[in-house]
Amino acid sequence: MRALCYHGVNDLRVETVKDPEILRPGDAIVRVRMSSVCGSDLHLIGGYVPTMQRGDILGHEFLGEIVETGADVKRLSRGDRVIVCSLIGCGHCDYCKRDLWSLCDNSNPNHAMMDALLGDTIAGVFGYSHMTGGYAGSHAEYVRVPYADHNAFKVPEGIPDESAVFASDALPTGFMGADLCNIKPGDVVAVWGCGGVGQMAIRSAYVLGASRVIAIDRYPERLRLAREKGGAEVLNYEEVHVNEALREMTAGRGPDACIDAVGMEADSTGITDVYDRVKQSLRVQLDRPAVLRQAIHACRKGGTVAVMGVYFGLIDKFPMGVLMNKALTLRSGQQHGQRYVPRLFELIERGEIDPSYLLTHRLSLEEGPRGYKVFKSKEEACMRVVFSP
Ligand SMILES: [Zn+2]
Ligand SMILES: [Zn+2]
Repeated sequence: MRALCYHGVNDLRVETVKDPEILRPGDAIVRVRMSSVCGSDLHLIGGYVPTMQRGDILGHEFLGEIVETGADVKRLSRGDRVIVCSLIGCGHCDYCKRDLWSLCDNSNPNHAMMDALLGDTIAGVFGYSHMTGGYAGSHAEYVRVPYADHNAFKVPEGIPDESAVFASDALPTGFMGADLCNIKPGDVVAVWGCGGVGQMAIRSAYVLGASRVIAIDRYPERLRLAREKGGAEVLNYEEVHVNEALREMTAGRGPDACIDAVGMEADSTGITDVYDRVKQSLRVQLDRPAVLRQAIHACRKGGTVAVMGVYFGLIDKFPMGVLMNKALTLRSGQQHGQRYVPRLFELIERGEIDPSYLLTHRLSLEEGPRGYKVFKSKEEACMRVVFSP
């Protein structure tokens, strides 16, 4: 089959590779119809995530059709149209049973690598380095899905592929960001980053009861979508002092909750940005935490900061004193997609959330390297590129 493979920093190639096979009775093979790029892939391509190897297939957000099932697969059959959660749950460990799917203890066969970094493991992830299991990703014609009964969800007939594909990752990640904010009716929520996850977090915050959502980015097209599709008020951080603007908009208090939908490669302005970039390029600091710092400073006393952007390493200049004295709650995690997908399908069917506008570029798999170039540079008003093999 054909697949988009990693060959080094900013070096992606479409190659012919071996077809996946059923390895365990709980596996299914999915023929991919759509596979989306994700902002977190850029951390891989940029070389910020350890344990990538040449030839690794990228991609973790996808929709397709079941073509083969192992002997233990009960809930799925050939021909089912499914989306697959990007983080793999086993369905029976203590964490999966607690609905904390991204913390699954069993789905990462390379947990020793993750142990070395985090002192524990998280769930395996499709197409996301060897420390999260070395699973082949979805930018390919076929994917093996382990524990398929728990990780693949049949898509209701009324939901088109263009919407459903984002229920794999961008939508549940954004929704979980809003869910972690413990939103009370009337709350004001600020969202940093208006990429796919940020856009979904904006809509989700409204669904969960926010009265106002304020979105922060610097790309005019993304801010336009946040305003028009998400219904957010918007701030361009290159044009305004974000924290002063947020205070002004919230009667001097700051937002009740703040969502970091940016993560470890945050851009910002001024001297701390230069400082973070130098430290990151020297590898004395893996992550650039400008957004996280700003969110902690901006949040009102007693509020919640939810971190959905990906971080991997240590950060410094972390305002612990602010967090502690303002009695903030800091919550985070990789998305527990399996917990949210059925509810998200209902929200899509009722028209309360429509992720389809994230899809700005539909390309063939053969155009993979170009697709990532456009996505990375945010040229052509690109929000999400979806590959169809
Ligand atoms: Zn992702
Ligand atoms: Zn598990």
